[in-house]
Amino acid sequence: MKKVVKFGGSSLASAEQFMKVGSIIRADKSRKYVVPSAPGKRSSGDTKVTDMLYSCYGAAIREKKFKEQLDAIKARYQEIIDGLELTISLDGEFDVICENFGKKIGRDYAASRGEYLNGKIMAAYLGFEFIDAAEVIRFRKDGSFDEATTNTLLSTRLEASEGAVIPGFYGAKEDGTVVTFSRGGSDVTGSLVALAAGADLYENWTDVSGFLIADPRIVKNPKSIETITYKELRELSYMGASVLHEDAIFPVRKAGIPINIRNTNAPENKGTLIVEGTCRQPKYTITGIAGTDGFASITIEKAMMNSEIGFCRKVLEVFEKNDISIEHMPSGIDTMTIFVHKDEFEEKEQQVLAGIHKAVQPDHIELESDLALIAIVGRGMRATRGTAGRIFSALAHAHINVKMIDQGSSELNIIVGVRHDDFKSAIRALYDIFVVTQI
Ligand code: ADP
Ligand code: ASP
Ligand code: MG
Repeated sequence: MKKVVKFGGSSLASAEQFMKVGSIIRADKSRKYVVPSAPGKRSSGDTKVTDMLYSCYGAAIREKKFKEQLDAIKARYQEIIDGLELTISLDGEFDVICENFGKKIGRDYAASRGEYLNGKIMAAYLGFEFIDAAEVIRFRKDGSFDEATTNTLLSTRLEASEGAVIPGFYGAKEDGTVVTFSRGGSDVTGSLVALAAGADLYENWTDVSGFLIADPRIVKNPKSIETITYKELRELSYMGASVLHEDAIFPVRKAGIPINIRNTNAPENKGTLIVEGTCRQPKYTITGIAGTDGFASITIEKAMMNSEIGFCRKVLEVFEKNDISIEHMPSGIDTMTIFVHKDEFEEKEQQVLAGIHKAVQPDHIELESDLALIAIVGRGMRATRGTAGRIFSALAHAHINVKMIDQGSSELNIIVGVRHDDFKSAIRALYDIFVVTQI
């Protein structure tokens, strides 16, 4: 049995948290490969080390003094080293970082030092080998991720190691230039390590007891999901459930390696198991709810639109030419609505409208902004009638106007559009009807 364990920022924010992590790893010999994030927030008002690094590097490239900021970062690590009573020194490392910041070596390099240094401490604390991600996670010259080379490099290194720490979030090009994944990317590293190690399980340790049915910052004490499929998780992550980076499922999914989301602060809790498929029926009709704010909609009206061949294509081409991606596209007989990300659309708004007028000569175009999309996701919905009815009734009861409803062809999700102001109350109303009252 081989397990890869990834620990998020809040699990490694202080010496006290490191000790919890140490006990978790030592409690199970199969936890051989460890992927740490950078130290996160110690309390709600705190700053993540990654953000401190971005800000410090920002000062460096603006030719401002940055030494003080770098010292504050060093102090965060020193506090952990002292708390763990380790004898290692990061002086040499910080000299190199300071010099590189002065040379304006790159923003990705700057951010990556958060996980690099935490990895050094973690390896010393556990007595594991340290493997620099820059040597085994490979990016191409154009900055894109090189999956095949990474898998070869990583598996060769891991094969020769009985226990290793591989820092998350970054890798490098062949010439050594450091490149990071997008924010939250240590989850992706964990998944890549699990694939390369041929692990039986990828444990992702965070600060909640698994994937919760709804965002705990919106719904108070939401219940956690016991088992969720990769597909359901993908829908939820894409729509804003930020527990796991949305790209983190791809590497493990290939090899059928399950992911187990666990809580560092409550290791006795089994958390959530993410699997390819399961015969287990979900407890509720829905598996989860997630949503994202910041959409705009463009509704195009034209009589007899339906019989005009090529109408949709012509409209979509306008968006394509303006390099705007489309989120959803519900349509009626004489209308079609297109949902886009507001910030992507805003600056090109007039260009797009002119383009649509020219392409299809509509009778009327209506724009709306400040919209939110909410996904209600669940493999159980396929077998249950009346889900859409329940959604409408829950939202109507909460006096929320539904702007759009769209059922995915897989019957795995239903998306509703609501006004920004109704976003949170809509999620609460949906949680209530499907989980609390289960009417
Ligand atoms: P880590 O630093 O361990 O990677 P993250 O902050 O990236 O942790 O992700 C965990 C956080 O995700 C939780 O603290 C919680 O606030 C948030 N979150 C959002 N939606 C959900 C959800 N559906 N279930 C659980 N957590 C969620
Ligand atoms: N430390 C990085 C971030 O804050 C990566 C991660 O935590 O996964 O985004
Ligand atoms: Mg995360």
